[in-house]
Amino acid sequence: MTAGDNLFGRLSGRTRPQVLEPQAVPAAGLHVRLDDQGRVVSLSGTLRQQLAAQSVAEARPLLRDLLCAGSALSVEGQPADWQRQSLDLDFQGIGQVLHTRGWVEPESDGWILRLLDIGDLLTGRQQAGQREQNHQLAGRMSEQLRVCSLGRLPDVVTEQLRSLAQHWRIPCVALAVPDDDERGWRIYSQYTAHDAPALWQTGQHLGTGLDGVNGNVSLSLAEARNDHPRLLSLFGHADGLLVPYRDAEGVAAWLLCGCYIGEPQTRERDWLDLAAALAAPLLSRLREQRAHQQLERMEALQGLLGTGWWELLPATEEIQLAPSLLRSLGQEDGATRQALGLWLELIHPADRQELNSRLQDLQALGKPLLTSVRLQRTDADQPLWYRVQGQVLAAGDSRRWIGFMLDISDIKNQQLQAAAAHARLDNVIASSPAVIYVQRYVGGALHPAFFSDSLLPVLGWTLDDCSHDSLAALVHPEDRDLYFDRTRQLLREGNVRSRYRVRDKQGAYHWLLDEAKLLRDDLGLPVEAVGLWLDVTEATLAAEQIKQSEERYRILVEDSPAMICRYRPDLTLTFGNTPLANYLECRPEQLPGLHLGDWLSDEQRQAFIQRIRQLTPEFPVSTAEISLQLPGREHAWWVWSDRGVFDEQGVLVEVQAVGRDNTEVRRSQQQLTQSAKMATLGEMATGLAHEINQPLNVMRMAIVNVLKRLGNGDAQIDYLTEKLQRIDAQVQRAARVVDHMRVFGRRSEIEQQPFDPSQAVEGTLSLLGEGLRGKGVDLRVTPADFSVQVKGYADQLEQVLINLMVNARDALLGKRENNPQFRPWIAVHCEHDSRHVRIWVEDNGGGIDPRLLERIFEPFFTTKPIGVGTGLGLSVSYGIVENMGGRLSVTNGEQGARFCVELPVVQPG
Ligand code: ADP
Repeated sequence: MTAGDNLFGRLSGRTRPQVLEPQAVPAAGLHVRLDDQGRVVSLSGTLRQQLAAQSVAEARPLLRDLLCAGSALSVEGQPADWQRQSLDLDFQGIGQVLHTRGWVEPESDGWILRLLDIGDLLTGRQQAGQREQNHQLAGRMSEQLRVCSLGRLPDVVTEQLRSLAQHWRIPCVALAVPDDDERGWRIYSQYTAHDAPALWQTGQHLGTGLDGVNGNVSLSLAEARNDHPRLLSLFGHADGLLVPYRDAEGVAAWLLCGCYIGEPQTRERDWLDLAAALAAPLLSRLREQRAHQQLERMEALQGLLGTGWWELLPATEEIQLAPSLLRSLGQEDGATRQALGLWLELIHPADRQELNSRLQDLQALGKPLLTSVRLQRTDADQPLWYRVQGQVLAAGDSRRWIGFMLDISDIKNQQLQAAAAHARLDNVIASSPAVIYVQRYVGGALHPAFFSDSLLPVLGWTLDDCSHDSLAALVHPEDRDLYFDRTRQLLREGNVRSRYRVRDKQGAYHWLLDEAKLLRDDLGLPVEAVGLWLDVTEATLAAEQIKQSEERYRILVEDSPAMICRYRPDLTLTFGNTPLANYLECRPEQLPGLHLGDWLSDEQRQAFIQRIRQLTPEFPVSTAEISLQLPGREHAWWVWSDRGVFDEQGVLVEVQAVGRDNTEVRRSQQQLTQSAKMATLGEMATGLAHEINQPLNVMRMAIVNVLKRLGNGDAQIDYLTEKLQRIDAQVQRAARVVDHMRVFGRRSEIEQQPFDPSQAVEGTLSLLGEGLRGKGVDLRVTPADFSVQVKGYADQLEQVLINLMVNARDALLGKRENNPQFRPWIAVHCEHDSRHVRIWVEDNGGGIDPRLLERIFEPFFTTKPIGVGTGLGLSVSYGIVENMGGRLSVTNGEQGARFCVELPVVQPG
């Protein structure tokens, strides 16, 4: 008899254990005396005490009245009928049925029924049967749970719970397993009969209420309620039975039967077996499931990470690799177990030896392995990096050497790239004049915490030399305020840019451009300042020099007596210096915006614009003399030099000009011309006298003749008319000469005018022609048969021609003095082409000494005696012709000098 049986006996309400072996104990039997009708005469034997009706006395009840309904049938009729058969009779006992078996025998005056108690026999059989059933049920359940697929497991468990419940008529049954999510237990599955309260839900968390309950035996709630009051609510305060399942580690599951009192026939052991039949396979399947999931996760993870485990098998010098690792290594077809040497072949030679030695250390010394290796693979464009990590598991004979390999190519390559970039950056920083620094914010001040390596080459200091206080001392005394301001601004505004001088180790000062940014923490409090010092000493000094030279240049421009200005191609001034402003009667700052053309006549402006248009990047400079009408002044003459400034496309964007007032020079030139002209007039006085004398003589002769005729009384009207007409003609002739003299003596116009050069030829001949002829000089004039226009001053061209002819005359007359036979002539003729008109003045005076040809246009050069020649004629003439855009030149012809006045033709329109 086991303790369980004992206990369960108590549970099922029986006070004493039952002995199952049937023993013939005479004293223990029940002897019933019967009469022939089957009435009970007396009861005796030990069993009598257990009968409901222990004494029959006078009543003599029929035997069947003492029996339970079921067995009463077997005693129908009379005792005589019952002989020679075994009778199983169930008597109404006290509180329970008394099972008996016996037979009837005739006795002296009736019958005796000898019965033995077979209650235990029946119970034993019943129990055996139930145990058998139980066993079968448990076996079935266990089998079902073992063979079903993992997916169906919950359903199968529920099915088994149902058959359990139906078999034992348990209203609510559930299986609780340890809770994975939290401490305690949870309902894995449950079954509730349709008419029973739903005590539990699948998946329900039970908390730790089941902990501490004795897990060795099953427990009825009635018993447990005092020790474990919490269980009551778990069972809905109804009856219940709690059956544990234990494994090596203690209670691993509970079978809960709700609203149920255990069957008396069921042994403790049976319940435990039932619980075990359910829980053991379930838990094992769950473990299997967890392991499976774990494996799946591992596989997935390994696949995703390009990693996998390996295990060293030193006995066979082999290594075993996870399939995922093989895949990651590109060895899908390789064996999961392979020779260690073969595997090492996969590793890049540079890393192979190290890995091998570390693997040996792992094996021999148990030293954990951690290293990064490259693969020996040529198909990848970047090296494939793996992290290899390994350790020893367990100790002694069961030692294993396990590790994993992880693809870290991405990280490693990034690391390498970053390191390379870092190195490059370091290099750049170290070799650049920039110093990167970090200053920590401590208690309101910034303390140097880091300087890039370039500090040493730039300033010669190290971080140790540059503490918070000493740094300020290194700043140039004049710049210290700037430096303190910089720190204040940095703390206030978060960034700053400033420039100050810092002393280097040699004592020289460097201009540093300081750009710094303040970094703050989450709360906005300053943490540190990160900044950059750029050595801008050279740039600063250069800028200083440029500034100085700009200043000098500015002073030069300002103080220059020359007019300096800049203007746009539309002639709008953008700048002008003081001299220009003075001429234009305004202040220099008023000059920008003024229009240069405002002081030019229309023609001058046209010519000016024309000239500016001709500037090109190749020939950016042009010089000209321009004449302006300045406010409150007569004409001004400026020698004006323009230099074009072009953009990249070669478009003129601006013109820089320098001008010099040439008015005085112009004036004196004019005066010179004028005096030369006067000199010419003086020269011509003789000729003029002749010129005027001539008509006077003619008139006097006419008058004398008329008077003579009048005295003779022979003055006919026709005669008088003819003489008077002659006089009139001579008067007109003289008046013309005088008129022309007046015109010639006038100052030239300011502006050049277009005129026909043959006018000047005619004018010259009208002044000199008679005089020359009077001197016996042959004038050979070829009249121009064309009319063109040149630009300039007709009187000045006339002056030029007069000079040329007077010079020719002088040469001719000089020559004739020596040779009276000499027949002098002067030839004048004109010719033109599309661009020029040329007036030739030639004589036969013998020409000019070739050695002097170069010099005759020089002012004051003369070969004539003092008082006769001025030496101005040709030089002034040269200036006049040049001023008209032409050229005066000379050659020696066959017989004498040959002068040519060449002038540009003005195209009509
Ligand atoms: P000037 O007539 O007062 O000497 P010019 O300048 O007119 O001054 O002439 C300069 C010199 O050139 C003259 O002195 C003379 O020697 C020379 N000359 C000019 N024209 C002729 C000429 N037609 N034939 C020869 N010599 C000439």
